[in-house]
Amino acid sequence: MSVIIAVDVGGTQIRAAVYPRNHMRPSLLNRISTRNARATPLERLIQLIESVWPKDEPVTAIGIASPGPLDPYQGVIIAAPNIAGWADLPLRKTLEDHFNVPVILGNDANLAAYGEWCYGAGQNHHHLIYLTVSTGIGGGVIIDDQLLLGVRGLAAELGHVAVQLDGPLCSCGKRGHLEALASGTAIARWVEQELSQGAGSILPHDQPITTKMVAQAAKKGDELAIAALTRSGTYIGKALANYLHIFNPSIVIIGGGVSQSGSLLLEPMRAAMCEQVLSEEYVVNLTLATAALGDEAGLMGALAIVRSTYPDKINE
Ligand SMILES: [Zn+2]
Repeated sequence: MSVIIAVDVGGTQIRAAVYPRNHMRPSLLNRISTRNARATPLERLIQLIESVWPKDEPVTAIGIASPGPLDPYQGVIIAAPNIAGWADLPLRKTLEDHFNVPVILGNDANLAAYGEWCYGAGQNHHHLIYLTVSTGIGGGVIIDDQLLLGVRGLAAELGHVAVQLDGPLCSCGKRGHLEALASGTAIARWVEQELSQGAGSILPHDQPITTKMVAQAAKKGDELAIAALTRSGTYIGKALANYLHIFNPSIVIIGGGVSQSGSLLLEPMRAAMCEQVLSEEYVVNLTLATAALGDEAGLMGALAIVRSTYPDKINE
């Protein structure tokens, strides 16, 4: 019986999982660090897939969730800044030549959206927006039961919408993007700035601040930490109103580590979103949900995109 291999490539680790037909749990899952002194990330990826390759069963296809920007039609990584050497990389062709099975490549946030839609919080919805808020901010959009890709597959970069003219510099090099104002990195940076200007807080003034420290302090009632999450939630809420105006979804799913701060982030987010929409009709029946698949969303999305492309054959 054939299996599918799903892979999630990250800046620090790569995971590969083998999914038997009709199974939602992998029969094998291996991980490997992306960086290693002796091998390139591409060599590491190939080694990892070889390590899970089944001895007796045929492989239908390999699905790969990778940081972008990338071209899913051509299977080419355009530039993945966190992965050394991954620019203009024909990843699909390289892997198809090596493994001799079809390979499907997708943007990790797009595939996480697809995973949440097929197997997670977005099931039974036809119009969905997924936003992942962690170190950066990524997104994915399902419209009319289709993953929105755009002409080059570059659509749904929801973290790189401008929400503040002349705002802080974004990781992409442009100013005022949502990611630069509301990501985990932005939250920590804002708190450090406030502390350096003498703001009162239980957070330490003399060491680097992490988003986790801010979340913990906020839960203890620390006003600066609460203000940081409120600020982030407000920017995200305003951006969400923009997305609602463009896509008019029935559900918005928030994932990523920062979303684990719960209502401290989500309540100001909801308030800002409702305040900004041009009509209540956008929000009356809107479901606002947190992601159900957590860390597995990318893998599950890679699995789902292969299954939708190569449906399991009944007699296989
Ligand atoms: Zn940006």
